[in-house]
Amino acid sequence: MKISNLFATLALLVIACPATAEEYLSGITWSEPKVITPGETDSAPPSDAIVLYGGPEDVAKWNNGENWKTDGNILISGKGMVRSKAEFGDCQFHVEWSAPTPPKGKSQGRGNSGIFMMGRYEIQVLDSYDNETYFDGQAAAIYKQTPPAVNAMRPPGEWNTYDIFWTAPRFDEAGKLASPAYITATHNGVLVLNHFELKGDTPFNRAPQYNAHGPKGPISIQDHGNPVRFRNIWVREYQPAQVESELIEALTAE
Ligand code: MG
Repeated sequence: MKISNLFATLALLVIACPATAEEYLSGITWSEPKVITPGETDSAPPSDAIVLYGGPEDVAKWNNGENWKTDGNILISGKGMVRSKAEFGDCQFHVEWSAPTPPKGKSQGRGNSGIFMMGRYEIQVLDSYDNETYFDGQAAAIYKQTPPAVNAMRPPGEWNTYDIFWTAPRFDEAGKLASPAYITATHNGVLVLNHFELKGDTPFNRAPQYNAHGPKGPISIQDHGNPVRFRNIWVREYQPAQVESELIEALTAE
């Protein structure tokens, strides 16, 4: 075959193959993903979100909410931790927070609060704008486990946003850890934690450890004696795409 003919034949094959190739099919029939309406802004809750704080009436959604102050759509850290009455496992959590201005105190004493996923795993809230402290205790750290990848803090008085993507830990029937918790988070839109595997809970005075608990827990916000402000708090329970049927099942059924 002449070289030019060979090229012509190859060209024909390239053109012909897509039409004759069989389409790859996974054998899975997927359920249709639920249609939801996104929020009009990145702050606004999507239609399937549960709003935990949007205004003063939402104080009732928190245990101990009566001991915190409100200012319109702002919730201000008061006496004692607040715990959401609703409980969550795997979820997407959104919160905006603002450190006190003018800033008072230093290190862990400045604008300290915290978001406790399932009531026990803390992502730190702290005024980390020009405020030295231990790195695994600064804003967006998993307390005493890892610093954030970067410090994306805005100055006191300005609003910070956390978007948290949470995978709950699983325990077997004997209470043994079956799979750890994972967290991905952005701070002001910046990726600061990427699928970080938690080593357990996040106390001040000992190493992290897992203690068996249920599949869901409250979201708690810490009182550390500083009047940190919060707004636009909402959460979405997360469930991955669902399989309606698989080919293997269909074949078995026949
Ligand atoms: Mg804290």
